[in-house]
Amino acid sequence: MKRIHRLPISVSAAAALLLVATHAGAPDRTGTPQGKPGAANSPAVVLVSLDGFPAAALADPDLPAPALRALIASGASAKGMTGVNPAVTWPTHTTFVTGVLPDVHGVLFNGLLIRQPGALPRIEPWRDKAEMVRVETVYDAAFRAGLSTAQVDWVAIQNPGTITWDFAERPDPKGSIARELIAAGLAAPGVIDRFAKMNIVAKDQTWTTAAVHIIERHQPNLLMLHLLALDSTHHRYGPGTPAAYATIGFVDAQLARVIEAVRRSPMKDRTTVMVVSDHGFKTATRSIRPNAILRRAGLLQVDDAGRNMPGDAFVISEGGTAMVYALENRERLVPKLAQLFRGAPGIARVLEPAEFAALGYPAPDRNAQMGDLVLVAADDHSFSGSADGDDVVDNPQPAGFHGALNTDPAMDSIFVAWGYGIRPGVRVERVSAVQVAPTIAALLDLRMSAAGAPIDAILSAPDKGRRRDR
Ligand SMILES: [Zn+2]
Repeated sequence: MKRIHRLPISVSAAAALLLVATHAGAPDRTGTPQGKPGAANSPAVVLVSLDGFPAAALADPDLPAPALRALIASGASAKGMTGVNPAVTWPTHTTFVTGVLPDVHGVLFNGLLIRQPGALPRIEPWRDKAEMVRVETVYDAAFRAGLSTAQVDWVAIQNPGTITWDFAERPDPKGSIARELIAAGLAAPGVIDRFAKMNIVAKDQTWTTAAVHIIERHQPNLLMLHLLALDSTHHRYGPGTPAAYATIGFVDAQLARVIEAVRRSPMKDRTTVMVVSDHGFKTATRSIRPNAILRRAGLLQVDDAGRNMPGDAFVISEGGTAMVYALENRERLVPKLAQLFRGAPGIARVLEPAEFAALGYPAPDRNAQMGDLVLVAADDHSFSGSADGDDVVDNPQPAGFHGALNTDPAMDSIFVAWGYGIRPGVRVERVSAVQVAPTIAALLDLRMSAAGAPIDAILSAPDKGRRRDR
């Protein structure tokens, strides 16, 4: 509780600095005054998420990731990070910023699951953060403490009200960062207008350019950057393939640009760079089609055009697991569905609500997005949403997937931290995704009501991590 007086002091100090900067000049080379609110004396954290980077890849001595290796050598790292259930992008990223599991923060898909009577459940990504995320985030806490915040391609973060600078997954061409990039010649006019149609490699480059620009010009106290190309490559070609190695080299080069920007920044001595990933990857040669099983059992209909029609039940795939929904007569139907899937080929386990809490899933009656059952795929299998054809089909080529239970070592992700407040050369065995937010909070001296303990072993200042009585 010792930072109780910090907020008024830092806000007034920042306001004074802003006045000095505005009136006394001190423009930097981009013509923008130095000394933004909160930026001048407070620490900074740059959180970079390399989507779908498996922990096991770091054991490869020939991994083409020199920037990441350099951070590991001179910073702190974990051999593996335990993610969340479901081991999917938005739920895990929301845990990174809230410090709690999906049963508490509420995000179970890459979007919000909408359930309406007479309709199949569907996932809508473009919903406001307030509709999806049920607890305070570390960027909310930072913003409210007078610090500046920034996000580039972060997820479950639409209209948060607590981000100072943003360049979103679908950037607004009229947004201030987009206009600054064009004005500075860092993005061609028109690039941001057609952003949604760009390939994922060009998107990652542009997102990184935006993050570098935000660090250089605005020096935020907290920047969150999310890069997607490796996840895309892993889905299409699988981990450990030549394409996967090429993409690891590519995302590492983007990370190097961010580290270079931090090193050049006036904030370099008080900035921590944290690199995480949200899940690992596996490869499957067979796809299970639980909706085809439902169709054959008469519980799901398909129209003449092959579209799934609202029926009694529906399954949504999350890769290595799948959520089962009883849409009608839930009490009668759920036991029947459990029996149906328990005998099905390719399904290793059928999890019932009594098992959800131990895995960090919410109870279905506390979050309507939660399935009534969770299916777990057998080895070498992943789930597909298709209701066509056979219950299990051979993939034309091995397919990459995630979303297996977080107890599967293949889902382990990476955690690396370097710079301000980090003990150099520390290697810990295992950390958890829930520790990312409290560790950021400790570095930025913030209080978070819901989050647990930071990763004490990697923090250098003796008082770091003591704020557990909050
Ligand atoms: Zn992901």
